[in-house]
This record gives sequence, structure tokens and C-alpha cells, in this order.
Amino acid sequence: MATIIDGKAVAAKVRSEVASEVAKLSQAGKRIPCLAVILAGDNKASEVYVRNKKKDCAEVGFVSREIDFDNDVTESELLKTIAELNADDGVDGILCQLPLPKGIDENTVLRAIDPCKDVDAFHPYSAGLIMQGQPEFLPCTPAGIMRLLDEYAIDVIGKECVIIGRSNIVGKPMAQLLIARSATVTVCHTKTSDLAFHTKRADVIIAAAGKAGLVSGDMIKDGAVVIDVGMNRDANGALCGDCDYESCAQKASFITPVPGGVGPMTRAMLLINTMTAYNKH
Ligand code: NAP
Repeated sequence: MATIIDGKAVAAKVRSEVASEVAKLSQAGKRIPCLAVILAGDNKASEVYVRNKKKDCAEVGFVSREIDFDNDVTESELLKTIAELNADDGVDGILCQLPLPKGIDENTVLRAIDPCKDVDAFHPYSAGLIMQGQPEFLPCTPAGIMRLLDEYAIDVIGKECVIIGRSNIVGKPMAQLLIARSATVTVCHTKTSDLAFHTKRADVIIAAAGKAGLVSGDMIKDGAVVIDVGMNRDANGALCGDCDYESCAQKASFITPVPGGVGPMTRAMLLINTMTAYNKH
């Protein structure tokens, strides 16, 4: 039976590390790091994500600012707000919660964020630095996964790592971080002709497809490390990942649960990025 990778516990550890840095700043009478979050539209999931981000900021002692817009916000209004936040010395990190309302070009908006304040690391400048192996900010989900691997002393050097998914926010940067750690990386996607062929030979599987039940125990080898990024709803409406937990846990050496695995780490790494932005500021 696999060791369960406890993302909640590691995320709590990260938060306490950040909180102790903030406490030192406060004791020294220094300015406190500030994260600005833009929430545009009335997406219920986005509202929950933003609420959680503000809660995390409060827990570690950061200042957080929320800038809300209705569904009918224009691209130029968003760009104007971002320009103001870019110029504001009291703001260290800027995050624009996705998705944005229809008609707004996400790329244009994300590219307007000053790369020095790009705590989501979605700006092409941040992505380019990651590709060159000299990142300033790491995208929160892949960075959280690397931290989990480190916490559980899972060495990836020379290991076969198979990533399912090639999105800009998870799959691609995950591949870059694993390459930087000298893993041998395969990236699968919907056009991959035989997914099981790849997963069966993987030492580490990172499933980030958003498809419940995509990876079952018969698709992994004994002792594989299974990192489940997926966030899906099962037939009963319960949160579940991309991997069939029961059958994979029988064969894996380590596995992340959903919920309680990668999700809490994504939130925690945003705090690290905000602290990094503050320190660079
Ligand atoms: P995305 O942009 O929709 O990308 C999904 C990727 O998976 C695509 O590259 C797609 O291939 C691939 N894919 C989909 N179905 C597949 C299949 N049957 N076989 C092989 N590949 C398949 O999603 P994302 O933003 O990367 O997120 C992926 C999942 O992670 C979602 O469930 C999301 O909610 C979750 N997520 C969780 C966290 C967290 O903190 N836990 C953070 C971010 C995302 P194509 O490119 O060919 O379409």
C-alpha cells in the first residue's frame, strides 16, 4: 500500500515558514508584503479561490487587496487597474483570477502584469525564464509538486517521469522543472496514441488532464509515484482526481490524495511567490 503524500501538512509547514518571515519583518518595523488579486465577473469557483487566497494571506500576515469587477468589465478597465498596481510600490504581487469574462483576451491581460510582480508566473517572460532553467517565479502547481517530492525525499534524477497534460499552467512548466532536475520526461496529451504504454513504464506519473478515472492501477507499475493534479467531480458530486485512487494506491509507492494532495500546495506556493516578489522589490 502506498504512502499517502500529505499536501495539507506540507502546505501548513510552508505557511508557517512564510509567517515566521513576515513576523520578523513586522518586528523590525518593515513594510509587510502585499498581494493584489483581481476578480472579474461572477464565477462562483473563482470567488471561492480568491476567498481562500485572502484567507491564506491573512494567516501568514500578508496584506491582501481585492479588486472586483462585474461581468461587463472591459479589457481597458482591467489594463488600467493592472497599470496602477504595477506602479504601486505598496503592491508586491499581482494576480488576475482566471477565467476572465467572455470577450476579454486573457493573454493581453496577463502580459500587462509587471513580470517583477507576476506571482502566478503566467507571463511569457516568466515562462521563458523557466524554460531557460533560471526562473524568478515558479507556477504554483508545478512548484508545489516539486516541494512535495522534496519533502518526501523522492529523487527524480534519471527517473522516467510521465506527465499527462500539456497546459501552460501545469503540464508544460512541470516538464521544465523535472528536466531541470535531470528527470527523463514524457508529456502525454489527447493525441497520445497509447497512454498506458507510457504510464506503465513511468517511475513518476503526474496526471493533469482533468479527466476522472483516466489512470487506473493496471496502467501503472509497482512502486510508481503517483501525483494527481486533476480536480474533477465524480457521479456523486464529490471532488476526485484523474487517477483511480483505490487501484493506484495498491501498486504505488507514494500517492497524492484528492482532495488534500496537490491543491493545498498550489495555494501555499502563491505565498512563497509573493514573499519572493517582496524580497526582490
Ligand atoms: P487544461 O488546460 O484543460 O489541460 C488539460 C491537458 O490534459 C491538455 O493538455 C489535454 O490534452 C490533456 N488531456 C485531456 N484529456 C486527456 C486524455 N484523455 N488523455 C491524455 N491527455 C488528456 O487543464 P489544466 O489547467 O492543465 O488542469 C488540468 C487538471 O488539473 C484540471 O482538472 C484542473 O482542475 C486541475 N488543476 C488542479 C490544480 C490544483 O491545484 N490541484 C491546479 C491547476 C489545475 P490536449 O492538449 O491535447 O487537449
